[in-house]
Amino acid sequence: MGQSSILPALLGLEVRATMKSPLEAPEKQIAEETSAKPEKPLASSVIDTSKMSKGQREALELAEASRDPLDDRGSFASNLFIGRYDFDRIYPYPAQSEQDRAAGEEFLQKLENYLREHVDADEIDRTGEIPPENFRGLAEIGAFGIKVPKKYGGLGLSQSNYGRAAVLLGSWDGNVAALVSAHQSIGVAQPLLLFGTEEQKQKYLPRVAGGEISAFALTETHAGSDPATMSLRADPTPDGSAFILNGEKLWCTNGVKAGVLVVMAKTPPKIVAGKERKQITAFIVDVDTPGLEIAYRCRFMGLRALYNAVVKFKDVRVPRENIIAKEGQGLKVALMTLNTGRLTLPAACVGVSKRLLEISRKWASERVQWGVPIGKHGAIAGKIAEMAGNVFAMEAMTFLSSSLLDRKAGDLRIETAMCKMWATEMTWKIADDAMQVRGGRGYETAASLAGRGEPPISVERFLRDCRVNMIFEGSSEIMRLFIAREALDPHLKVGGAIFNTQLPMSERAKAVFTSGKFYAGWYPRQWLPNGTRKIDNLHRDLQKQVDYATATSKKLARGLFHAMARFGPKLDREQLLLSRFVGIATELFAISATCSYGQHLLGQGKASEEVLSVANYFCRSARLRIDNHFAGTHRNADKRGYQLTQELLADKHAMLRDGIVR
Ligand SMILES: Cc1cc2nc3c(=O)[nH]c(=O)nc-3n(C[C@H](O)[C@H](O)[C@H](O)COP(=O)(O)OP(=O)(O)OC[C@H]3O[C@@H](n4cnc5c(N)ncnc54)[C@H](O)[C@@H]3O)c2cc1C
Repeated sequence: MGQSSILPALLGLEVRATMKSPLEAPEKQIAEETSAKPEKPLASSVIDTSKMSKGQREALELAEASRDPLDDRGSFASNLFIGRYDFDRIYPYPAQSEQDRAAGEEFLQKLENYLREHVDADEIDRTGEIPPENFRGLAEIGAFGIKVPKKYGGLGLSQSNYGRAAVLLGSWDGNVAALVSAHQSIGVAQPLLLFGTEEQKQKYLPRVAGGEISAFALTETHAGSDPATMSLRADPTPDGSAFILNGEKLWCTNGVKAGVLVVMAKTPPKIVAGKERKQITAFIVDVDTPGLEIAYRCRFMGLRALYNAVVKFKDVRVPRENIIAKEGQGLKVALMTLNTGRLTLPAACVGVSKRLLEISRKWASERVQWGVPIGKHGAIAGKIAEMAGNVFAMEAMTFLSSSLLDRKAGDLRIETAMCKMWATEMTWKIADDAMQVRGGRGYETAASLAGRGEPPISVERFLRDCRVNMIFEGSSEIMRLFIAREALDPHLKVGGAIFNTQLPMSERAKAVFTSGKFYAGWYPRQWLPNGTRKIDNLHRDLQKQVDYATATSKKLARGLFHAMARFGPKLDREQLLLSRFVGIATELFAISATCSYGQHLLGQGKASEEVLSVANYFCRSARLRIDNHFAGTHRNADKRGYQLTQELLADKHAMLRDGIVR
């Protein structure tokens, strides 16, 4: 079957669809309609890996083997891709309860006071060191065990309260924010809370909650975004009671100060379905174990006081009981840890962005040029409005997701990935715009400003510090691929087998039938008008935005389907096209969270003209971005751009290197 013929082929099958309730999760619904199994399928049955290079195949198979299928119920954000707009899942806004808020108040007040009185962010940036008394002070107020349950010596606070702490930290100092966040969002605490045995929790959680620093070591020189290329080995001892670790880890944040690490290592491969499959296992490793060496401290453009290390392992013996989860489940541990851990960065971004908005707002009203405050010039006003809208949406998305997480409201991996990707990119834009608003003063260091008698307002420090947020804990590109993979999942399950040349013809033919049955019902419905569904107590301005989002999620689903029909199994190579679909869904999530949060604030008696002004502005600008994404799905220069890059990689276009010092 030609790739472009899938759509008529699928729709040509005259089978009556039996679509269930629109609130049912895609996986369940698809399973029922197609008798496809909702359990996790083998990667090979969903994605054809036969034409991939060895490296690509291994990376994909490892990633697929570590991926849990999306929760049966789907989620608000994942359902956007199949044209299902479940506003009920996020409305009324799942606000933090008064009780939970109160539980965090005492600590948050202490943290705020501590930061203001004892943490000198510019000095930390200048010296590249966080003073030892700050480590002690933060430990004393409990900042290293915010989410660790009280019975293990922590504060036992919720994700929402942890997020509020991250806002405070982000607004003050990126270095301390990174220290505290790497320690408990990806360091020992989070994976142990998710997967640890009772013995492991009792042994390690009181230590890390008390201030013994922890870190997470996954990256290696040759294993960045692609963990399949990991080379640090963990070989079992002959009696099987321990593993011997050999190799090296790169860029381990907190490594220089850590007492205990989570280390991902390659354990002996297993044979799965007749083929050798790589195994990655997560270990808890005490830094004082003989053979472990903190070999080098890495330094960066920003986060200058990050205690980031190259860690060497030479015959490091780690007992079997230090495995987190099971042997071979290391990547799953890492992915699941990050699914939650990823919410800390957007919360910190809310703090950075609010601070930069405040700096910009004040400066735009004080600084007079050409006879008026610069905020009266349209070009500057435009930047500040954009910052304000994005701050509002960022807070809405991040705390909506945090609160859903606290309520254990299903699988939120898409929401947390969207928050991470969107918030880190918007924060970078906000930092860039804040620098422009402050002009030369934005580029000048705080110390230099102070030296000539001006207020030491840092913008350049925030700009330097926030850039890395788009690189670590899943780079923006990897986040887009991750979200796209989940977006395509329901469709891959229904129709992926058709194109999988590794499957027998009978199975592929069956897939044509089952997918035809499904799409014959699903596809026409994506064209049906929505009708108007008046949402209880939603302000009419916000209702309009929700109506738009409802219709646009169907348009998104149609677009994605058309792209699948056009590119067939090669769609996964169309990264720029997929990134536009991911961009549309993320903006729809942002609009929806903004509306839900906006109504919540109105209900709390906040000034309606203020709430609606910022919410309406944000939605309007997000809709323009969505228009751009849609336009790009039809008209773009992707193919030419790709071709041009391949030419450059092949050493052509020498004129572009002429006339420079090399
Ligand atoms: C300051 C700092 C702190 C860090 N802290 C930690 C830590 O505590 N623990 C830890 O384990 N690691 C840590 N890292 C590592 C970080 O997670 C990696 O830098 C990140 O995973 C990206 O890997 P890489 O830098 O090797 O980039 P690469 O994987 O080499 O990627 C380079 C570029 O290519 C893109 N790219 C790669 N693959 C694809 C693809 N398939 N499709 C499209 N684009 C792609 C990437 O997005 C990136 O833009 C840290 C890094 C830094 C800089």
